[in-house]
Amino acid sequence: MHSLSGGDFEVVILGAGMSGLCMAIQLQRAGIRDFVVLEKSAGIGGTWWDNRYPGAQVDVPAPAYSFSFAPNRHWTHRFADAHEIHAYQQRLVEDHGLLPHIRLGHAVVEARFDAEAGRWRLSLDDGSAISARFFVCSTGPLSRPRWPDIAGLAGFRGRLLHSARWPADADLAGQRVGVIGTGSTAAQLVPALAPAVARLSVFQRTPNWILPCVDRRYGRLDHWAMRLPAYAALARHAWVQVLELGRRGFDEGTLARRLMIRAAAAHLRRQVADPALRARLAPTYPLGCKRIIYSNDYYRALAQSDLVTAPIQAVTATGVQTADGREHELDALVCATGFDTVRPLAGLRIIGRDGQALEEAWRGGPSAYLGLTVPGFPNLFLTLGPNTGTGHTSTLLFIEPQVAHVLACMERVRQEGRRWIAVRADVFAAQDAAVQRRLAGAVWSHCSSWYRDENGRIFAIWPGFTGEYVKAVRRPDAAAYELG
Ligand code: NAP
Repeated sequence: MHSLSGGDFEVVILGAGMSGLCMAIQLQRAGIRDFVVLEKSAGIGGTWWDNRYPGAQVDVPAPAYSFSFAPNRHWTHRFADAHEIHAYQQRLVEDHGLLPHIRLGHAVVEARFDAEAGRWRLSLDDGSAISARFFVCSTGPLSRPRWPDIAGLAGFRGRLLHSARWPADADLAGQRVGVIGTGSTAAQLVPALAPAVARLSVFQRTPNWILPCVDRRYGRLDHWAMRLPAYAALARHAWVQVLELGRRGFDEGTLARRLMIRAAAAHLRRQVADPALRARLAPTYPLGCKRIIYSNDYYRALAQSDLVTAPIQAVTATGVQTADGREHELDALVCATGFDTVRPLAGLRIIGRDGQALEEAWRGGPSAYLGLTVPGFPNLFLTLGPNTGTGHTSTLLFIEPQVAHVLACMERVRQEGRRWIAVRADVFAAQDAAVQRRLAGAVWSHCSSWYRDENGRIFAIWPGFTGEYVKAVRRPDAAAYELG
């Protein structure tokens, strides 16, 4: 392993979350050991390192939230919590001997492609410089917390928190707490906070679609069976197929959609007795436009809380002021307000072959060929890049074929003795246009969400089924790429 400063690597991976770890494991398996994983945080895990708020858990069944090559027989519940997922990630690191390759607390501030040498020249935040033939950005779409743009927020004198930067010492027991936001994060955080705090005020701008969560504890028989590779593979496959059915629910007129809408309405009726509260919780946009929430305890927790639906006017030194003239006095204010997904790589300047910055190339919004490669940026790969998000299944199903694609591209450069590989501009443009055509008028275009930018362009979502993406990505189309 090279020392970092002045190091010349075959591959630099940015980010030690799920996709960065998968990339590292598959590089090792392909016999490429000259790589480093740079992680800006003090620990591995990516989003699971960042999102350690009370109640954090995954919202797809855990068997589908493990890699096909690394089944996990330790899951205690079908819907695993953040600690278990982090433990799974740590085992991945240990079992695959990744530790010597990982450098924590390192951020890249600039990456510049040297076309002559066919290498990326990287400047790090500590002033050191390294280079790599291939640069893989595995920073994920949900890495930069978004603070709400509300007047007075900075002047709040109580404790101000963001769900994605939860401090280990944040004990809010017995306090008057406000939560801004009602997305997937808030739906987990609110039930965890409600029993512990003195008073919980939940500030809702948009009521969301909520379906029951079919969670269960795994017993001894499950754990015994999970040791059998064939059973683990079958369980994973079965869940993947079930989740895939959920994709049908995003298309108007399907049976899956009708059933999901009916189940959500029944869930609301069953869990919220008060018709006035029910009316305030009824979604106002089509199901699936924002991410669907799966929860058995969110509605119940709201019944013990103060659900505030009047718009927030300002944050004051002592609380939140709403448009109905109420002052909500608070000791702590939690922003469960999501992530800056439009600028996932802000803070990192990436300069391509012709001196163009990625920021400029993405003036019209982030886009990449199959979410992976950008014309003019040779030997640069993104994992979980633009238009590879889904609202119905596990992101890990997208990561594995992406990593296979990246490896095949690297292999081609090495085998053909070339310096670089880049997607052809016309191929990228055609694929991007095809994705945008499919997204136009689709369910995600009927509301605002982190899937869309200021102009309404949907840059985060893959419009189709998982199988379709896997097929398109797993083996790169040789004609889509040019080599130099
Ligand atoms: P989000 O879905 O973007 O939700 C942010 C919430 O904050 C929304 O309710 C939004 O209201 C509200 N908000 C933002 N700015 C506001 C303002 N100025 N005033 C009032 N309300 C404001 O973020 P998230 O809940 O963190 O979830 C993001 C994604 O992370 C999810 O979609 C999911 O993909 C992932 N996630 C997954 C899990 C899991 O696997 N279990 C858990 C958590 C998160 P509007 O809707 O009106 O904009």
